[in-house]
Amino acid sequence: MLYKRSSELFAEASKVIPGGVNSPVRAFKAVGGTPIFVKEAKGAYLYDEDGNRLIDYIASWGPMILGHAYDPVTNAVIEKAKKGTSFGMPTEIETKIAELAVSMVPNIDKIRFVNSGTEACMSAVRLARGYTGKEKIIKFSGCYHGHSDAFLIQAGSGAVTFGSPNSPGVTQGTAKDTLLAPYNNLDAVKTLFEANKGEVAAIILEPVAGNMGCVLPKEGFLEGLRALCDANGTLLIFDEVMTGFRLAKGGAQEVFGVAADIVTFGKVIGGGLPVGAFAAREEIMKFLAPEGPVYQAGTLSGNPLAMAAGLAMLTELNNNPEVFTSLEKKTAYLHKGLDSVLKDSGIEYTISRFGSMLSVFFAKEPVVDFETSAAANNDTFKKYFHGMLKEGVYLPPSSFESYFLNDALTYEDLDFTIAALKKVVPTLK
Ligand code: PMP
Repeated sequence: MLYKRSSELFAEASKVIPGGVNSPVRAFKAVGGTPIFVKEAKGAYLYDEDGNRLIDYIASWGPMILGHAYDPVTNAVIEKAKKGTSFGMPTEIETKIAELAVSMVPNIDKIRFVNSGTEACMSAVRLARGYTGKEKIIKFSGCYHGHSDAFLIQAGSGAVTFGSPNSPGVTQGTAKDTLLAPYNNLDAVKTLFEANKGEVAAIILEPVAGNMGCVLPKEGFLEGLRALCDANGTLLIFDEVMTGFRLAKGGAQEVFGVAADIVTFGKVIGGGLPVGAFAAREEIMKFLAPEGPVYQAGTLSGNPLAMAAGLAMLTELNNNPEVFTSLEKKTAYLHKGLDSVLKDSGIEYTISRFGSMLSVFFAKEPVVDFETSAAANNDTFKKYFHGMLKEGVYLPPSSFESYFLNDALTYEDLDFTIAALKKVVPTLK
């Protein structure tokens, strides 16, 4: 497989775009080598600038759940574009997609559309603070909620201390309001509540984590957080940017039967266009401007093209809920296949999967949080990633990312992927 043109394009891009990319993970920093420049995509396949065909397991990090250039979505965007691409005024289609989203997701009465997952999470936290009158939030190490300042925080020196910024440019003042706990650790959350009595506005988490690789919530973890929130007058925010409209129509709330107070969305809800959203019950959403005092706005929010793509996507999923079962079956098949190849290889590994999200960790211990995820062998991961790429399989270029399967993948594609791993395994040792 040749990457000549990708290399040239990366060199050109690096002259005018920092690091050659518009979002860091694309630069292949974790795995080395040259990022692949994509030319076009259809269904389950990416076609790169060198003419290679790759089976795609990232699906634009989730949105392309039905495959790339899915006709109903593409056509909806084309038709809308002919009638004007932005007005900065209300349009009927915003109400249509809002009605549909509210009907699909439990425990929400109203939804506000924004332009990214970052905006959705940032606004959800502001709303929680406005609603509760409290200032601190609890987040979990390894969960990602976008690049707004309040989330770019790492654990401080002790479990009960404040977090500290993990990017220059984030102030200590911001960091002091974000408390960190290890994922799946209810005791740590209890300790934070005790040390910050009456001060915690919200807990925010990925109900199935996808940003430290795919990590599942332990039994009782989500329920335990719900109970702690109720006992402390704190709101529970499910960041369903990845899981929303992917695990089920109603996302993780539906699958786990745990109600969140605020839910955030991104990815699938926009059908591949830049859309995020946050939603909650009426009593919470009425705090939002212009109805209430909590300010939030966006010139391009509810953009007609984005809404057309999102509405077409949600309509497909709402009308064909068997997609979720089909995706789960395909992912389970892949899981079993990868497992059967690695089982007798003598390589230490763990596969985590929930629904159509999956990660292969080269780790001995089960992966339950950021620490156990970070302990996995990255040298083996690099060889695995590049080996699979040479075979024509595009995996996430970091062990801290999850695979997102799309329903255009066929069982032949999955068999091809499993066979590719068989070829790659001898190079991993
Ligand atoms: N939350 C989660 C769970 C995410 O995975 C992401 C992005 N991968 C975000 C928030 C931020 O979304 P965006 O990149 O659209 O700002």
